[in-house]
Amino acid sequence: MSADGSFGQAIDIETLEESGMLNPIGNVSFIEGAASVAFGESRAQVFASGNVNGRSENEKVLKKLMRMVEFSVRRALLCQGCGICMGHCEHNAIEIKEKRVRIRENCIHCGACIEVCPLIKFI
Ligand code: SF4
Ligand code: SF4
Repeated sequence: MSADGSFGQAIDIETLEESGMLNPIGNVSFIEGAASVAFGESRAQVFASGNVNGRSENEKVLKKLMRMVEFSVRRALLCQGCGICMGHCEHNAIEIKEKRVRIRENCIHCGACIEVCPLIKFI
């Protein structure tokens, strides 16, 4: 099954890639201005237009994936550099640079840093 969503605005895919913010979900690839992230057997794509598409065999997993993508894109675009998520990463995979955080390649996709972000809590 699949699900479609939209942020209602264009997404700067370059900023999304530089932030590494999709890494907490799973392995990420960037092709022709779109981001693709694997979550187990499921997958989601984020397009520069702001549209998001998710595919999964399992409805519950698909909902979780779409939610995590929404949160992660918000973190990428709106990070205030508060550092709260850094304190929740046990793998030293989050660095801060010019008041924004970046998720490094050594992220193990545990997802522990996603929902602790105040940007998410206040949605
Ligand atoms: S807490 Fe660290 S290892 Fe876990 S998803 Fe976030 S950055 Fe990756
Ligand atoms: S917790 Fe703070 S530093 Fe981490 S992504 Fe959210 S706003 Fe940025």
